[in-house]
Amino acid sequence: MLERIGGVAVARTPAQVRAWSQEVRAAGKRIALVPTMGALHAGHMTLVDTARAHAEAVIVSIFVNPMQFGPKEDFSAYPRPFADDCARCAHQGVDLVYAPTPETMYPRGFQSHVEVEQLTQGLCGAARPAHFRGVTTVVLKLLNIALADVAVFGEKDYQQLQALKRMALDLDHPTRILGAPIAREPDGLAMSSRNVYLTADERQAALVIVRSLRAAQAQVRAGERDVPQLIATLAAAMTKAGGRVDYAQIVDPQSLQPLETLDRPARVIVATWFGRARLLDNMDLLP
Ligand code: AMP
Repeated sequence: MLERIGGVAVARTPAQVRAWSQEVRAAGKRIALVPTMGALHAGHMTLVDTARAHAEAVIVSIFVNPMQFGPKEDFSAYPRPFADDCARCAHQGVDLVYAPTPETMYPRGFQSHVEVEQLTQGLCGAARPAHFRGVTTVVLKLLNIALADVAVFGEKDYQQLQALKRMALDLDHPTRILGAPIAREPDGLAMSSRNVYLTADERQAALVIVRSLRAAQAQVRAGERDVPQLIATLAAAMTKAGGRVDYAQIVDPQSLQPLETLDRPARVIVATWFGRARLLDNMDLLP
């Protein structure tokens, strides 16, 4: 018997998840997996809705994955409102929550990893060297036990989504990786579990991110093709508002290589610190 928390069934071990999934599949139902680190917000719930559109049974995993945090990052501080997360999942009609401990995920002696080599080099990979290796390793483990038809990830973590698509393709994984659009607060800020780190002033100042991405999009629609100019404008706006820009780039949407000219679809992608929060955002640029 699985325990129930906040109205949803909770599995704690790979064996429990796999047994559950085998039973669901035997009943002829499709399964969708939504991997998360918890501190669930309405953006995560849009992924659950996308998952539901592709499957009769939805699994949400909640695991703050130590392997994807650097030694000086916020692993300990990361919010963990587990009971609220379970209630939220129950309310959204999630069928199973998988919440393992780090010891269950990485038992003594663990030493295998998966790495997507090129897509993880630049952007977030530059400032967070071991991050994507931790992400791809944990997601592959989750895919291997969930036996899901599809797994849903947000475009907010755009580089992560591209790396995971590549991983599934390269390693012949049968689970289809789906992307879902960025969910935003009414004022445009991309939803994120890390937004709770922002003070009220920082929260207000951080709106410059979405505003300057939208401005770049509008400039491109109006005929601007000068990539260095677009990036300089973006970065200057974020810096002026008090942000510390980690990167601002315009890249090919699949290869994530920086573009020199805007002669094809592109993605503008930024990471900027406001206070303690490193905020990600991105948008398509269609010349
Ligand atoms: P996290 O719990 O932050 O690791 O995110 C779990 C999943 O939710 C990832 O696939 C994220 O890309 C996705 N996600 C987080 N925030 C958003 C958002 N604002 N819109 C869409 N997807 C999101």
